[in-house]
Amino acid sequence: MSQTAFSTLDLNPALLENLSSMGYAEMTPIQAQSLPHMLAGKDVIAQGKTGSGKTAAFGLGLLSNLNVKRFRVQTLVLCPTRELADQVAKEIRKLARAIHNIKVLTLCGGMPFGPQIGSLEHGAHIIVGTPGRVEEHIRKGFLNLEELNTLVFDEADRMMEMGFQSSIDAIVDEAPSDRQTLLFSATYPKQIKEIADDIMNKPVMVKVESTH
Ligand code: ADP
Ligand code: MG
Repeated sequence: MSQTAFSTLDLNPALLENLSSMGYAEMTPIQAQSLPHMLAGKDVIAQGKTGSGKTAAFGLGLLSNLNVKRFRVQTLVLCPTRELADQVAKEIRKLARAIHNIKVLTLCGGMPFGPQIGSLEHGAHIIVGTPGRVEEHIRKGFLNLEELNTLVFDEADRMMEMGFQSSIDAIVDEAPSDRQTLLFSATYPKQIKEIADDIMNKPVMVKVESTH
């Protein structure tokens, strides 16, 4: 077995089988370097270029924390745009195909508010959304993060460039402090470092230059 085979990880066998049916045999470098730390429960900051496989990295990390029987929001993934949130939700649904009845809900700005409230009332395990809209649902009492165990920032550098800092601060204030926090970014400017110092707990830093 190769050192970067997914099967070297302590993952649910159904999840492993699904990965191979997706054609994912080997971990990409960023997955190989970050997943062991994520599965050990550590906070992780991972820096890698577009196309390096960051979604499956945090996707597998968050799925391993999920208790499917508990129908409450346990994961929140924040993305800079609706398009990215839709892509991330799609990839998580694919990864989670082996686990029955996982509900992934997207909450993005620019979409009507009412149907999102209805979906939240039905419940979800995983929320993927943009910071402004997620913060609004929390502030208005439609989204409760009491049982959140994993908070993910995808494309953190772009979220900062887009001015989402205050929404992110408000969201983090509502998240349990014993959560796991995962931060993914293509670049690692000073602003991200400062946020990471504020909201993460002794994060492991992973940086990968190449995609394959
Ligand atoms: P990033 O977020 O780093 O830009 P993505 O998560 O969008 O990258 O992944 C890029 C592409 O690589 C996607 O098409 C995804 O399906 C594919 N991919 C991710 N991990 C693997 C893997 N271990 N094996 C094969 N393909 C993968
Ligand atoms: Mg990505």
